[in-house]
Amino acid sequence: MVPDQPDTKELDRMFCFCQQYTHIFIYGCEEKQRMLWKYLEITGIRIAGYVISQRIHREMVREGIPIYLPEELESHGFSKDETAFLLALPGAYYNDVLCTLQRLDYEHFFYMSEHNKNTIAYKMRPRIREQFWLEVNIADHCNLNCQMCDHYSQLADVHFLDFDEYCRDIERLSYLMDQTMGIMKLQGGEPLLNRQLGKFIEVTRKFFPHTRIFLFTNGLLLLQSEKWEEGNLWECLYENNVEVELTMYPISLDYEKIQEKAAQYQVKLSMFKEIADDQNTGILKKTSVKHPHDLKGEQDMHSFISCYQFNESITLRHGKIYTCPMIPYSEYLEKAFSVSFERCKDDGIDIYEAKSYEEIAEFVTHRVPFCRYCNVRNRQFAVEWKQSDRTLSEYV
Ligand code: SF4
Repeated sequence: MVPDQPDTKELDRMFCFCQQYTHIFIYGCEEKQRMLWKYLEITGIRIAGYVISQRIHREMVREGIPIYLPEELESHGFSKDETAFLLALPGAYYNDVLCTLQRLDYEHFFYMSEHNKNTIAYKMRPRIREQFWLEVNIADHCNLNCQMCDHYSQLADVHFLDFDEYCRDIERLSYLMDQTMGIMKLQGGEPLLNRQLGKFIEVTRKFFPHTRIFLFTNGLLLLQSEKWEEGNLWECLYENNVEVELTMYPISLDYEKIQEKAAQYQVKLSMFKEIADDQNTGILKKTSVKHPHDLKGEQDMHSFISCYQFNESITLRHGKIYTCPMIPYSEYLEKAFSVSFERCKDDGIDIYEAKSYEEIAEFVTHRVPFCRYCNVRNRQFAVEWKQSDRTLSEYV
């Protein structure tokens, strides 16, 4: 697991570097270099080919990209002045590679940090089924009204996921994924506002018998849910082996009692809060993340890869899968403030048109047109939590 995202400032420098030369080569053609090529291709930077030190496999082309030895470049018409190299190799090879290139009078190199080499590859790599995490809103609205919610739940209409629609979608995914998925997250909004939650849990378990199922909740309704007319939710959680992920807030809620209840029903419960040190007092405070939107949609082509939601918070909504929740749920932002985002078919992938799981996993590793509305580089990660005053300033 890579804990961090690619460093945007280094990416800016790399893009500046690439724009100065006509022929850009990536040194090496193993997995990390191929993921770098894929990323650059998505951003519109054209790579002339890979360069390798020796033709061990006598391979001339990999996935349509030509492979050269350094001494072959000039004879293929790549002039030395106009040729530059991106070095994204393991550090131990740098000296040898540099000696070779400098001996041939090449002068233009960009050294990629270990951090960006690893994180770019991680973000660009399609997930295997066992590492695929999917989230779905069981209810779009919430009972807590947090500021800056990235599902826009404090702005959402009362909206419950349609059970029949979910049954169709989860069955289709189960077919495409051969019943294998790493994690399924049932969330919201606040999922416990949907009193059919038990049915959603049961059908998820039916179609994904071995998947880890998480229920994300603010916990406000957990204690009452023992006595629901629709059935005791705690028993349902236990019987379907669902783990509860409870986000803690600075509100009055009997967290100890919830822990006792979880122990009584043998339900696995994790309680967490996003916290940060207050700079002045040193006291730990619950925080929110501010995700500023660019309402004009003029963000660059390359910073999307530094978005922590990209290829991470993969979202199912009305038969389509999106690389993040902002794309489908931002309709609530539009409605609340009369702003408008242009969406298109290519912002998500239809699970009924996708021919295979692999097509979906590949799709969510690509920048989508909607990314132009996200000002990723100006996100703020430690804004002190408070309730929302429902103004557009929480999102711009
Ligand atoms: S639209 Fe793109 S940049 Fe914005 S949150 Fe989603 S993945 Fe990230």
